[in-house]
Amino acid sequence: MNYISTRGQAPRLNFEETMLAGLARDGGLYVPEAVPAMPRDEIAALAGLPYEEAALRVMRPFLGESFSPAELGEAIAAAYAGFGHPARAPLVQLAPDHFLLELFHGPTLAFKDFAMQLIAQLFEIALARSGRRVTIVGATSGDTGSAAIEAFGGLDNVDVFILFPEGRVSEVQRRQMTTPDAANVHALALDGDFDACQAQVKAMFNEFDFRDRVGLAGVNSINWARVLAQVVYYFTAATNLGAPHRPVRFTVPTGNFGDIYAGHVARAMGLPIERLVIATNVNDILHRTLETGRHATTGVTATISPSMDIQVSSNFERALFDALGRDGRAVAQLMDELRAEGGFAVPQGALEALREGFASGRASEEETAAEIVRTHAETGLLLCPHSAVGVKVAREQPAGGAPMITLATAHPAKFPDAVEAATGLRPGLPPRMSDLFDRPERVTCVPNELGAIEALIEERITR
Ligand SMILES: *Cc1c(COP(=O)(O)O)cnc(C)c1O
Repeated sequence: MNYISTRGQAPRLNFEETMLAGLARDGGLYVPEAVPAMPRDEIAALAGLPYEEAALRVMRPFLGESFSPAELGEAIAAAYAGFGHPARAPLVQLAPDHFLLELFHGPTLAFKDFAMQLIAQLFEIALARSGRRVTIVGATSGDTGSAAIEAFGGLDNVDVFILFPEGRVSEVQRRQMTTPDAANVHALALDGDFDACQAQVKAMFNEFDFRDRVGLAGVNSINWARVLAQVVYYFTAATNLGAPHRPVRFTVPTGNFGDIYAGHVARAMGLPIERLVIATNVNDILHRTLETGRHATTGVTATISPSMDIQVSSNFERALFDALGRDGRAVAQLMDELRAEGGFAVPQGALEALREGFASGRASEEETAAEIVRTHAETGLLLCPHSAVGVKVAREQPAGGAPMITLATAHPAKFPDAVEAATGLRPGLPPRMSDLFDRPERVTCVPNELGAIEALIEERITR
């Protein structure tokens, strides 16, 4: 199994190299050369299996020779052992034909734990084997950083530095980054916004001297291994509701298009997904792209669902690559146009393919808050604002048809202010982390200055 770049100019890599590389050298994203099909009887056999066993069966064909089945099995077991629910990704019924897939039972209460916990284990195996060390540097608006610090903390061959915008993450998010006490993880509060954090990380990757000296690696959502880990719960949810004998529909709260792209991969493997719905907040570039055929960036608006406040939706490039008949040259041209002019027109054939593959909808701030209230009144469940965007958009899809599964991407207690403002109720943390507010914090404030940040990293890394 080999991986190719969406821009067609980077070397083809195996799974392990793809995971360690993150971004391709031509600026593109890695995708499998061919998505392996999963035969219908093998899909049917997933129903009712423990999550870990299903994960092994779904992911194995993508790994080639990179990890043995035993290594993958051990990585999966270690990744999900710390989850607070035995089903890992349980389904809860909202209405006769509408289900919620709860992806927030991991250690940092957001779906990012599914991928980050697993790739931390796979990094550890690969690095131990090669005797290499890497330095992971990432920017976060909250959830990715906490998931990375939790997943990589205490591992042997990795140091982790997470840049977050000081004062602009929720208190739960901040404490999840600043309270782990492992010596190899470092939360850096940057004097600037999320875009400034991301710009500093990009700048570091572009300084090849520094990059090689510290062995820079990335674990942001464009990393193929993260997408793959997320494919699994589409299979477990769908088969537990009767797939492949009956189809299902999914609605996915979307920012960087990573989670929903995993659904696209599941469908390409043979899972009967009748409809895959993009749900956005007012930062609705993806919804507008499908409606108008023009993919154009505007400014980012801060919302109560901050993990979806994104203007450049990186993983969309993977869907575009497929929609363009896997023409890397065409993707590269459109991406150049995006960078130079802030947008591009999706070619007609590709637009039709995208509209065939995805539906979309958006929720305003008021609609999101109203959905939190409505779902609570009807079911007694409190939704986080991201999940509420999904539930609201799912309700607008045509009635009848296959059962709808909406992905619940975070626990309401991770965004308690928004939930309380909507309902008057303040969601509490699960008992296993109820001491979060009592633990000591460890954080380093850094200026928005590349030289200073690089010096700090070089001083702190393990040699
Ligand atoms: C990251 C995140 C999203 C968006 O996921 P993408 O893969 O970027 O589309 C939605 N909700 C929550 C809570 C998140 O942390």
